[in-house]
Amino acid sequence: MSIYSGYEAVIGLEVHIQLKTKTKAFCGCSTEFGREPNSQVCPVCLGFPGALPVLNRLALEYAVKVALALNCKIQEFTKFDRKNYFYPDLPKNYQISQFDLPLSKDGFLDIYLQGKAKRIGIRRVHLEEDAGKLIHKEDFSLVDFNRAGIPLLEIVSEPQINSPQEAYEYLSTLKSIVQYLDVSDCDMEKGSLRCDANISVREAGAEGLGTKTEVKNMNSFKSVKEALGFEIERQIELLKQDKKIIQETRLWDAEKLETFSMRTKEESKDYRYFPEPDLPPFIISKDKIESIRMTIPELPYQKIQRFMNEYGLSEYDAKVIVFSSKDDAIYAEECMKRLDSSDKKPLVNFLIGPMMSEANNRNCGISGLGIPAEEVVSLVQHVQRQDISYLTAKSVLKEVIDTSQSPTKIIKDKNLIQISDSNALTKLVDEVIKENPKSVQDYLSGKSNAIMFLVGQVMKKSNGKANPKIVQEIIKGRLSNA
Ligand code: ADP
Ligand code: ZN
Ligand code: MG
Repeated sequence: MSIYSGYEAVIGLEVHIQLKTKTKAFCGCSTEFGREPNSQVCPVCLGFPGALPVLNRLALEYAVKVALALNCKIQEFTKFDRKNYFYPDLPKNYQISQFDLPLSKDGFLDIYLQGKAKRIGIRRVHLEEDAGKLIHKEDFSLVDFNRAGIPLLEIVSEPQINSPQEAYEYLSTLKSIVQYLDVSDCDMEKGSLRCDANISVREAGAEGLGTKTEVKNMNSFKSVKEALGFEIERQIELLKQDKKIIQETRLWDAEKLETFSMRTKEESKDYRYFPEPDLPPFIISKDKIESIRMTIPELPYQKIQRFMNEYGLSEYDAKVIVFSSKDDAIYAEECMKRLDSSDKKPLVNFLIGPMMSEANNRNCGISGLGIPAEEVVSLVQHVQRQDISYLTAKSVLKEVIDTSQSPTKIIKDKNLIQISDSNALTKLVDEVIKENPKSVQDYLSGKSNAIMFLVGQVMKKSNGKANPKIVQEIIKGRLSNA
């Protein structure tokens, strides 16, 4: 099945994530982001002759943790290799990486899209080191080696992604998994998550793979999606004209919204890989692997399914909550559990609507707002009982955050409870009807909008506390008997 008539897109993603260890992969330098350029360097990460690397144990543990969460087989015997190339951001003129014996391979990641699950193969997960950072100015370039040597995980998918939307979902799920494991910030803006996309197209139903291009330089998931969309169209257009697709590396231009050729693609043989002689091959014991496996929490895909099954959430709502963060998902579940109604929708709407927007304004998640779960539930219940309007609930929420008082107390102290008593409201309605014959006439002659004016007048008389829904019902009833 294809969304491009007669053609099919084939995508494989290579994702790099910086592991958030305190020190670099092979030396003791700090990995802290945003420090003065070249202030976090030493002879090892600057590649001075004779300086010897020592593997950061935690980096290896984090790598194993991610590999396990991606259902990969951990290779008992693994080693590092030198990937040789000359570039000003690479002090040693080689990168310590893993070539033929990566620490893990043959895993998968499940994505869930529009009611359907899809399994995407993970070819390998390996550990390597980051390069420095080049800063290009008008007519010169600067280099910052603070980043050189930070542990990086490379996660390579099989070419089993078939649309930009699937790629987006793959990235969102992967990012969320890594965040749940608490081993990386996965912040694309800070460069702690980077994605290269490999794309080819083929005639729908064809067996083999077409010639691929590799697109780099996307700095958000949205850009990845756009770049893939552009590249697929470009390649299909070439094929339609019977032209050849050149295997090359292309860059995404986020302003022009197009890809352009950077260089022809190098092959692995160009890198002259050979075993890193300064780091002995090593064995990861079964016990170690099992003890790391024990630390893996429930992962996003499982949580999304469970929230849909147990609490009746829609796919969209479940994803918003689960992908937000592990803490937010735990918090939301606590709220859902406390609401003793099987209809969780009003609560979920409140969580992902007003609460998430308050959280965004404060640069935190809903769990970071500091509101006990039972108070959120009580606020939503006030709305459901029609004690207060939804609008009032939103302003009470702000006050709960600012004053740490309970919603019930704020509602009581400020006397915010709506008047829903129909006798009291009928009295006000009758006054308003008497005082506004023109609007009544308008309404009776078919201008249905006029009723909103009358409702407004009742609201005024009640100092904003009348329940507008009930008021409207009463007015309708009164005027239909008129
Ligand atoms: P390279 O050696 O060029 O880096 P790899 O075989 O290592 O290529 O694959 C790199 C990535 O490209 C993987 O994610 C893989 O799934 C993807 N890939 C490989 N071939 C194709 C293709 N023909 N079309 C789309 N993606 C591909
Ligand atoms: Zn160093
Ligand atoms: Mg490759």
